[in-house]
Amino acid sequence: MKKIFPLSLARTEQLASQFGTPFYIYDEKAIRANIRKFIKAFSIFPDFTEFFAVKALPNPYILKILASEGCGADCSSLPELILAERAGITGEQVMFTSNNTPEKEFVYANMKGNILNLDDITHIEFVEKACGNLPDYISFRYNPGPLKQSGVNAFIGKPEEAKYGLTREQIFEAYKICKEKGVSRFALHTMVASNELNLDYFVETARILFELARDIKEKVGVSVEMINLGGGLGIPYKLDQKPVDYDYVAKEIRKVYDEIIVPSGLDPVKICWECGRPITGPYGYLVTRAIHEKHIYREYIGVDASMADLMRPGMYGAYHHVTVCGKDEVVDEKGEIIPGANVHIYDIVGSLCENCDKFAVQRPMPKIDKGDLLVIHDAGAHSRAMGFNYNAKLRCKELLLREDGSVMQIRRAETVDDYFATLDFEALRNFS
Ligand SMILES: *Cc1c(COP(=O)(O)O)cnc(C)c1O
Repeated sequence: MKKIFPLSLARTEQLASQFGTPFYIYDEKAIRANIRKFIKAFSIFPDFTEFFAVKALPNPYILKILASEGCGADCSSLPELILAERAGITGEQVMFTSNNTPEKEFVYANMKGNILNLDDITHIEFVEKACGNLPDYISFRYNPGPLKQSGVNAFIGKPEEAKYGLTREQIFEAYKICKEKGVSRFALHTMVASNELNLDYFVETARILFELARDIKEKVGVSVEMINLGGGLGIPYKLDQKPVDYDYVAKEIRKVYDEIIVPSGLDPVKICWECGRPITGPYGYLVTRAIHEKHIYREYIGVDASMADLMRPGMYGAYHHVTVCGKDEVVDEKGEIIPGANVHIYDIVGSLCENCDKFAVQRPMPKIDKGDLLVIHDAGAHSRAMGFNYNAKLRCKELLLREDGSVMQIRRAETVDDYFATLDFEALRNFS
């Protein structure tokens, strides 16, 4: 699929001179169109809700946009809980899916009436002690464990090596304990995938959860009122990949719902996702300027962004498509080199003292000149959010392209003062 950037060269140059590079820019119109399509597809389920995974793009302006489209928030830490609240997402519109959770975070989420999604059976007692009593409403995260145990699918990775969730036996025990302690409302959750494009995988995950919900009702007499299918829907980072067909996934999961949930007497049960990546990922871009070219054993283009702004390529070799503003691509929509194109092979690099600080490795590109603006695509999720400060690199700003075509800054770049904010230079003066 061809990658598009919503701004012309002239407009991008204007933004670059107004705000300075590098910057992230998110496309509000595209985010809204996508979330509407997503919610519409899954609205064939009772009371469907998408809890946007805040960690994917923790910016309150984005959260406010998504909240206005009906999304809740999936949070995993105290600052994320606060961020969601500041964006106006409150109460049971917030799912607290944390793990190895500190006491005060449970206390905060409980005080705010957020849904606590417990990651372990011992957390029942932990929460009870921390909060004084258990909330009325509790969710548990299920870990399906070895494949033979779940008995269903081959796509699920290796849940038995994952630190998350409760085993099947513990799940029954956990609902039983909570029921005896007077908890009256229950939910069930799992999350075992990441960036998955195989649609059948999600149908199988739903089947596992639906069967478990049925078994919980039969064995423990607890009817869950919500089933959260987790996140993990992938996006086509590569040109030859296809986006997830929301309607297909929804309809296939609906068949399983009708087969398992309806006869079990659990219908209607609220169905949820807590996706991050597919909601904003394709609609964010990192714009950076080529500031150096270097010709040694390979051809290098040095840009003013670094791995500290976007670590996915450096950390796990993730592919992000890169285009040059105002220059034609040398590959077609399948990623194949266009015959006759003037191809240059580059490593596109940042300035970190780490050789993995490369946005692209041996990438066929049009000729890049110093001063060109490069667009790194699919940077709307798990991108700025994963940034860090190693090498004292300061993370870049975030801009929002509004529906009317105007652009506003929704987070400024970090400054040297930000970097020094945790240091006490007064005390240093007297230190010897
Ligand atoms: C990371 C995460 C998500 C979101 O994952 P995406 O791949 O961005 O959809 C949802 N739930 C939990 C528990 C997570 O850890």
